[in-house]
Amino acid sequence: MHAPCIVITLQASLRVTQTPAPIPRGDRKPMPLTEITTPVRRPVESRDPRTGAVWRRFEAADSEEVGAAVAQARSAQPAWAALPAGTRMEMLRRFHDLAYARRTELAALVSRETGKPVAEALATEVAVVLDDTRFLRRTIPRLMRAPWAAASSRALIRKRVRVVPEPHGVVGVIAPWNYPFMLACSRLLPALATGNAVVFKPSEFTPSVGEATWQLLVESGVPSAVVQLIQGDGAVGAALVEAPVDKVFFTGSVRAGRAVAVAAARRLAPCELELGGSDAAIVCADANIPMAAAGLAWGRFSNAGQTCVAPKRVFVEAAAYDRFLEETSRVVASLRVGAAEPEADVGPMIRPEFRAVIEAQRDDALDRGARVVCTGDAGGPAFPPTVLADVPADARAMREETFGPLMVVTAVRDASDAVARANASEYGLSASVWSRDTARAGALASRLEAGTVAINDVVVTAGMPELPHGGVKQSGFGRAHGEAGILACLRTRGIVSERLPGMRQSWWFGDPARQLAGMDAFLRAVHDPSAVRRARAWPALLRFLAGSRRSIRR
Ligand code: NAD
Repeated sequence: MHAPCIVITLQASLRVTQTPAPIPRGDRKPMPLTEITTPVRRPVESRDPRTGAVWRRFEAADSEEVGAAVAQARSAQPAWAALPAGTRMEMLRRFHDLAYARRTELAALVSRETGKPVAEALATEVAVVLDDTRFLRRTIPRLMRAPWAAASSRALIRKRVRVVPEPHGVVGVIAPWNYPFMLACSRLLPALATGNAVVFKPSEFTPSVGEATWQLLVESGVPSAVVQLIQGDGAVGAALVEAPVDKVFFTGSVRAGRAVAVAAARRLAPCELELGGSDAAIVCADANIPMAAAGLAWGRFSNAGQTCVAPKRVFVEAAAYDRFLEETSRVVASLRVGAAEPEADVGPMIRPEFRAVIEAQRDDALDRGARVVCTGDAGGPAFPPTVLADVPADARAMREETFGPLMVVTAVRDASDAVARANASEYGLSASVWSRDTARAGALASRLEAGTVAINDVVVTAGMPELPHGGVKQSGFGRAHGEAGILACLRTRGIVSERLPGMRQSWWFGDPARQLAGMDAFLRAVHDPSAVRRARAWPALLRFLAGSRRSIRR
């Protein structure tokens, strides 16, 4: 019914001239699913952004295959969840060791498919995943412990309680292309390590990285039925959300995130959305300006500006404005754009059509009175890193997400003005504050409407294992990384157990008049603000309790 996907091992994927070996698909039995909308079936092409040439082709899953992947994951999940937690932690250890051993190949593959420099892929994708894997191994066993505890309620003193974290079941992970390894792993690893099965759809622009990630997981010991790879575009993603998965982790644009939320809501399925951003950076006059310029230029122009947490709107206190522009221009002038590896600082944008959007946003700002402060070398297909100053608040570049190497800088009266302008955005992903006075920077950070704030650094918040990453407002809801990112993969089962099972409860059906007096005595003995009145209630309470100690008579 369908041609086999061109799916090959990671090592082989880097030697595309060899005959690809098919990945075993397990014994999927296609299952008719009436609720799935039929996705358009098209090839998924991996293009080299530096040349535009297609170097690998995959086949998109159709709706039957999406349904079959979910069904197979569902049947495999209970056995995976029933394994001792240590077995899944061992999977994490093997994943860490394999990813470390193949770090250069992985970075090269990410670079080939996204266009980002290899060194950048190593630092912002592979290194982050290696750290995160260690954090998960340390943290998951503690979060999954479920000891018995005494009940806190005085009325329920005979009870023991236990909160058991358990996996959701089968979760869908839909990933974007801009950090295809790091962002996918930030959801795949905790979901699998907590006992979920996963159906994973990488971006249609980065299918090879998706496949390599899947391959690493399987080689690390995750059964191929427990982690299912489906390739395809947004229609396949939509089919996955419509399929009976228990939770959806989506990372991508606001437009697609809204569609995911609506579709998930129709099934009352929980979802977490990591969406776009238009992050503000506030540069105070007392900041180390050369450092702020160097950091913000890296944050804005690395990954060719295609970073969700890039500083897209920079607000500089008036006293430091000219100096900041001067220092930033110096950095931009030194960037090697689109150079051959490993010399490049900035690569091309992933697709030429995205470059057109950035050009339109730049031209709109210029039409509204902004000026170009500096623009880098275009370097072949790359968009030249560009700094715009004096950009008015109504410019598209201020209102929309700019997903390319365009930095928008504006002078502000003071830091309060900067906070007001920073918050005047429908996005709220992350932000940064630059000042030598870190207490002042911390105070400003607490006034920013953002999921994370970096002080005297940028972008780093999205890659720290212990820091929950995610947004507010249109930037979505839910958190990846940190304990919050692990807990997002779990739900709780509350268990309460009676210590004296032979004894009836005093509030069960009995003598209502006696119960009224007794409950009132109990409330007075426990909750009355006056110690004297609490003490006075005890005789009545003890009489009531003594009378309640009857076993159920048969
Ligand atoms: P996108 O929304 O076009 O695609 C993201 C993923 O969703 C892809 O796998 C795509 O195939 C799938 N998809 C598209 N439409 C869908 C639908 N209706 N239902 C289900 N799945 C669908 O985004 P992109 O271009 O891949 O990524 C860039 C965007 O993602 C930017 O806005 C960026 O800011 C955002 N992003 C956010 C974060 C974050 O952590 N907040 C991280 C990276 C990227």
